[in-house]
Amino acid sequence: MAEDIYDYDVRCGTCHKKFKVQLFDSHEKNLFLVDKKSWYCEPCKKEYFKKQTDERTKAQQEIGLPELKGSVKQVSWSVKIREELINKVNFLKKSLKFENDSEKEKSDKAFEMFLMEWQEKTAAKWWIDHRKMTVRDIADRIDEISETLNNG
Ligand SMILES: [Zn+2]
Repeated sequence: MAEDIYDYDVRCGTCHKKFKVQLFDSHEKNLFLVDKKSWYCEPCKKEYFKKQTDERTKAQQEIGLPELKGSVKQVSWSVKIREELINKVNFLKKSLKFENDSEKEKSDKAFEMFLMEWQEKTAAKWWIDHRKMTVRDIADRIDEISETLNNG
């Protein structure tokens, strides 16, 4: 049997313009999708991602991180990655317990220096390459920095 490929008219959930989509399931299933799914046309999708990227960039600039450089797609992906990594840093910071104030001070300083390293990473690609960084990886780097503080 030949593959069924149908064009369907759907309406954009943002600008309400009609546009066509190709769906590859059975006609019945496709009709269900056309009806139930939220559809967005390409220009609205682009606008939406741009807005999200701008908002993330702005929030990250507020904590001292620079705007990222790369293609539109790379920047959009990398600010999302950076947001997740910042959450990991914050999670780690909150989970630490200290014996005394001077330990806490040293830790704060190490976090500060860690973020300074991130401030230098302006290429979207760097963040994409490091997207799998775990809380453990971050903790290890913070420990390394703390060590240099001990010796200094
Ligand atoms: Zn639209």
